[in-house]
Amino acid sequence: MKAEIISIGTELLLGQIADTNAPYLASELPLLGIDLYWITQVGDNRNRLVDALKRAYDRSDIIIATGGLGPTEDDVTREAIAELLGEEMGVDPELEQWLRGMFQKIGYEMPERNVKQANLIPSARAIPNLQGTAPGWWVEHEGKLILAMPGPPGEMKQMWEKEIRPKLKQKLSGEVIISRTIKTLGLTEAKVDEMVSPLLTSTNPTLAVYAKLDGIQLRLTAKDRERAKAKELIAQAEERLQNILGWAIWGYDEDTLEDLVGAMLREKGLSLATMESCSGGLLASTITDVPGSSDYFKGGLVAYSAQMKTAFGVDAALLARQGTVDPEVAAAMAQAVRLRLEADIGIGITGIAGPAEVEEKPVGTVHIAIDAEGKRGSLSVLYPPRRHEIKRRAVFSALFKLRQFLLDWE
Ligand code: AMP
Ligand code: MG
Repeated sequence: MKAEIISIGTELLLGQIADTNAPYLASELPLLGIDLYWITQVGDNRNRLVDALKRAYDRSDIIIATGGLGPTEDDVTREAIAELLGEEMGVDPELEQWLRGMFQKIGYEMPERNVKQANLIPSARAIPNLQGTAPGWWVEHEGKLILAMPGPPGEMKQMWEKEIRPKLKQKLSGEVIISRTIKTLGLTEAKVDEMVSPLLTSTNPTLAVYAKLDGIQLRLTAKDRERAKAKELIAQAEERLQNILGWAIWGYDEDTLEDLVGAMLREKGLSLATMESCSGGLLASTITDVPGSSDYFKGGLVAYSAQMKTAFGVDAALLARQGTVDPEVAAAMAQAVRLRLEADIGIGITGIAGPAEVEEKPVGTVHIAIDAEGKRGSLSVLYPPRRHEIKRRAVFSALFKLRQFLLDWE
């Protein structure tokens, strides 16, 4: 497979911007086993662009173009491809509707000149653009492939990674590739690795283990000529992993703990309140990342000092006796905030984010407590001594613990 990249834009030829799209794509192609033979830069001029396309069409199998898909007069990539192939361009009603919807979402009336971005030719399919309004084009004609992507590097990269690269891989190999991410918390990477070692040697699906701040993730990737078969391979391996990892699995693919916990609270009709010390409000912030969290989240107090903890109802004598970094204090915080905010469930977090030790307890010590009428949960952990990580990990642990607490809720 011979490929050619065409970077389109007069600003490139004037030296006003550097072409970063072509080098990025150039670095991607070898990974797909595609040979790149030429990179061309051409201005926003229809005749010269048609010339460049003709040359590329004659000598390459794949043409990858970026730029010139905007709504303005000087954006002529679609027109040039249509001319190259001798095909008539027309507005695709479905695409036009999508485009109008995009503008509606951001609260603007769509300028009529943008309708141009809904044009297609018979050989072209639109490629969704998740970041902007210019759809890409996937064109297949006489065994040649022409890909046109928008110029802004962020949009181009997103379209390449999410839309084009997977399809291209599939087209080249004739195989469907399906992945599934399984998210765990509470086990170390080494432990997970050891537990799943029988599956690590499998070649289809493959299994990879990654350490992330929100726990250890496992990614299964299966290939087959048939989608159903690839899915079946994933399902089988997933079941084995479920048997091995059990309670430690909290989610899949795009799941987040805050979404899952939010959905559980909503379903059970329970309300939540938080009192945080070392995490400085990050737990409340994370919980409120979820749209509609006001339905179940009453609020969070950041009780950073002992003074603030007592002000919100934590027993001063307890603090004096135990210090602030203590499981009993975490429990008292959880209970105090639950009562104070009249919530069904309270969470307390106290710990040491460092870098200095507190009360001669090691940096990374975190105590989490959950309190409800007649029910309690707690978790004490020691994280590696990195301040920002400790805060984030404490939040994930608290949400994970809350998830378990809610799973056990009668
Ligand atoms: P266009 O899609 O041609 O309207 O391009 C929009 C913007 O994307 C340009 O003004 C540039 O800022 C950027 N851009 C276009 N082509 C490239 C490229 N090859 N490398 C880096 N940035 C680009
Ligand atoms: Mg341009």
